[in-house]
Amino acid sequence: MDYEKNQILTVEITDMTSEGEGVGKQDGFPFFVKDAIIGDKAQIRVTRVKKNYAYGRLEKVLTPSPFRVEPRCAFHKQCGGCQIQSMSYEKQLEFKTSKVRNNLIRIGGFAPDMVDRVMEPIVGMEEPFYYRNKAQYPVGQNKEGEPVTGFYAGRTHSIVANTECHLGVKENKEILEIILAYMRENRVSAYDESTGEGLIRHVLIRKGFFSGEIMVCLVVNLRGKRKELPAQQRLIDALLTIPNMTSVSLNINTEKTNVILGQETRPVWGKDTIEDTIHVCDAEKHFERTGRGITYAISPVSFYQVNPVQTEKLYSLALSYAGLTGEETVWDLYCGIGTISLFLAEKAKRVYGVEVIPQAVENARENAAGNGISNAEFFVGKAEEVLPEKYEKDGISADVIVVDPPRKGCDAACLDTILKMAPRRVVYVSCDSATLARDLKALCGGGYEVERVRAVDMFPMTVGVEVVVMLSHKNPIA
Ligand code: SAH
Repeated sequence: MDYEKNQILTVEITDMTSEGEGVGKQDGFPFFVKDAIIGDKAQIRVTRVKKNYAYGRLEKVLTPSPFRVEPRCAFHKQCGGCQIQSMSYEKQLEFKTSKVRNNLIRIGGFAPDMVDRVMEPIVGMEEPFYYRNKAQYPVGQNKEGEPVTGFYAGRTHSIVANTECHLGVKENKEILEIILAYMRENRVSAYDESTGEGLIRHVLIRKGFFSGEIMVCLVVNLRGKRKELPAQQRLIDALLTIPNMTSVSLNINTEKTNVILGQETRPVWGKDTIEDTIHVCDAEKHFERTGRGITYAISPVSFYQVNPVQTEKLYSLALSYAGLTGEETVWDLYCGIGTISLFLAEKAKRVYGVEVIPQAVENARENAAGNGISNAEFFVGKAEEVLPEKYEKDGISADVIVVDPPRKGCDAACLDTILKMAPRRVVYVSCDSATLARDLKALCGGGYEVERVRAVDMFPMTVGVEVVVMLSHKNPIA
């Protein structure tokens, strides 16, 4: 049968894509339906027809799926930040588990029974809301000319007003209301993307979950000789009514760009950074906090994991999978500000971190010093360049290599060098199970075998999932 645009159909949603769209079939022909949940019987409107599949818009849920729950956020469909908020949390965890499993089988080429043998239960959250320690809100104007903040609707750049995102901390709303009131009362303009005029572009808020410290950074279009915002002291005074306010700064961005942060950050009140502490837990014992805490200094521009409750578990799992005894030389590739490296350092003889962003490496060194860690050394550069160079020229070896690459996974040259160095173990931390599966296939083709796999839910309500994998060399040299 031929389908056409705007046609109304009834479909049973029997599957989900990895991006969280529902999949329903009619006579074997698949329809992808955003906001539909596996188990729904739904009325859809066909929006786009391709040769082998089509897209539909959810018009009405005829019979709700048993996994459907009332979403907390009134804007979840418009915002698109939480693709699966109307799915029960338990079902979300199941969805993420099968996403990882399917990628290992389809892309990695691993046998289903082998995958089922090595996969451990996903690590979920007890409270899957209010977990983010960082919020970034765009500031604009509504039709009445009043300042608003919220989120960009869909893929557009128009702002839907909403100061209450349920993934962020409760202080965000209060802070945003203070900033909006300050703007109204002092006639401070919002930045207008189309003209490049106006002052306030974004509000960045960070909270140290362990320290309680709060940081506010306003991204502003301050030009020329102007060093301050109008009535800046009033804004600072109002922000200081928030308990634990620790750092207020301005980030100057005068470029016509959708990159949020500019080059220069000026502190205007308090410290330049906030602190947070992550504790070493026992991953084999329900993540009980057993080890020391490692404290990190975080600036407005630092990369820092957004879910500290789960980060602690993720890093502890990586540490456990590394199986260190105190004698090992360990490499931590894609180390960022040294978060995983410092976790490993206490249990290893020596840790080498590699990271491409110089500023992050500087932070990593400061964090090592601040925690009294002297057996970690950091190199600036690409993993695929630094590792071969250190191995081939300087003869540095590795007992264990940990990698935590960005979504695109590891470079082939990096994987080749790992195979040449043949460490006893490789621990792969991944935020994209598709590229993970591809890279595992390469490592397993070169003498490794996958021993343990565990997903960690770092981003509840969204389709993202983090995975940690332990690989062992089949014929270790020593
Ligand atoms: N392990 C850290 C950071 C992980 S994010 C943490 O958990 O906090 C991935 C990091 O890889 C980023 O900091 C990014 O800057 C860095 N990166 C990206 N490409 C790289 C490359 N080719 N070589 C080394 N680092 C790279």
